[in-house]
Amino acid sequence: MRITEIRVWQRDLPLIKPYRLSGGRLLFERLDSTFVAIRTDEGSVGWGEACPWGHTYLPAHGAGVRAALELLAPALIGADPLALDAVNRQMEVALPGHAEAKSALDVACWDLLGQATGMPLWRLFGADAAVPVALNSSISTGTPQEMVALIRDAAARGYTVHSAKIGGTDIAADIERMTAISEALPPDHAVTFDVNRAWTPGIAVQVLNAVPSRDWVEQPCETLDQCAHVSERVPQPIMLDECMLTYQDHLEAWKRRACEGVKVKPNRVGGLTKARRIRDFGVAVGWRMHIEDVGGSALADTAAIHLAASTPEENRLASWICHDHLAEDPVPGQGVRNCNGHVVPPDAPGHGVVPDTDRFGDPVAIYGG
Ligand code: MG
Repeated sequence: MRITEIRVWQRDLPLIKPYRLSGGRLLFERLDSTFVAIRTDEGSVGWGEACPWGHTYLPAHGAGVRAALELLAPALIGADPLALDAVNRQMEVALPGHAEAKSALDVACWDLLGQATGMPLWRLFGADAAVPVALNSSISTGTPQEMVALIRDAAARGYTVHSAKIGGTDIAADIERMTAISEALPPDHAVTFDVNRAWTPGIAVQVLNAVPSRDWVEQPCETLDQCAHVSERVPQPIMLDECMLTYQDHLEAWKRRACEGVKVKPNRVGGLTKARRIRDFGVAVGWRMHIEDVGGSALADTAAIHLAASTPEENRLASWICHDHLAEDPVPGQGVRNCNGHVVPPDAPGHGVVPDTDRFGDPVAIYGG
């Protein structure tokens, strides 16, 4: 099988409600998503999506994804899409970095491998059944009362695991938020306090030693060094997210005892091939992982949920899905859908999401063909 053509589409995905990350310092209103369709000489088509969460969250943005595809896509014309490791090596030679753009192409190749073998991705990733994956709610930063109200609202919709955004320079406000949320949490519910790198190490150590909460704390500071420093000085388990871009970052975090878990996001690390390696490393060292994508439609969510569902339960925490927060649905009804706070990956071959190209309109680029 050979790749003959790669088409690229751009879609704006508005959020239902404006979303504020930790401390309210980052505002998001719409996401710029890029879809790719890889066509082969056997007539099959595989789909992938790259959607950075705005342009202030990671060192990536929508226009940058499409600029990277100008170099990556031509390098894959004529390649065997089922030879996933070779495809990834070719992309590394064509353009170092630019993980989000590589992720869209890698996921499209996994989709083709699933179609060629008649197997859903969860099975290719080693699972024997499509198990339900618990979903993580996403609680925007606010006053303690506002955040507790959002958690109650999410609980009424079936969520039992919550990601509460905290962090900033107001130490007293964060202590109040964490204490109020931990006290108000319904029985059998869990919360992760996601700081989104908003604390300096000193503030992190001060806040986390002042609260009774022993729940997970995610990405307290900007860098791996800073998070490792904090991890040695606080009683809570630490989850790392934004600073984990490569496999090497994960080795380093383990060596430095910087965390007890990580978020594994295919778009952030370069696709499902690399995300699976990181997932397997996480299982080997006993980490707990949230496996989900950075952002995007139900296509990106579904690809990541296949990996989550194939991960041993003891190593897996809840997954977040982006498309629940979008005002538009480019793949209506397809892929994973929230059912009372859980999702189940499809049984169809590949990732199981096939966008309607009529709905997408004209592609912004065509390579090969
Ligand atoms: Mg996070």
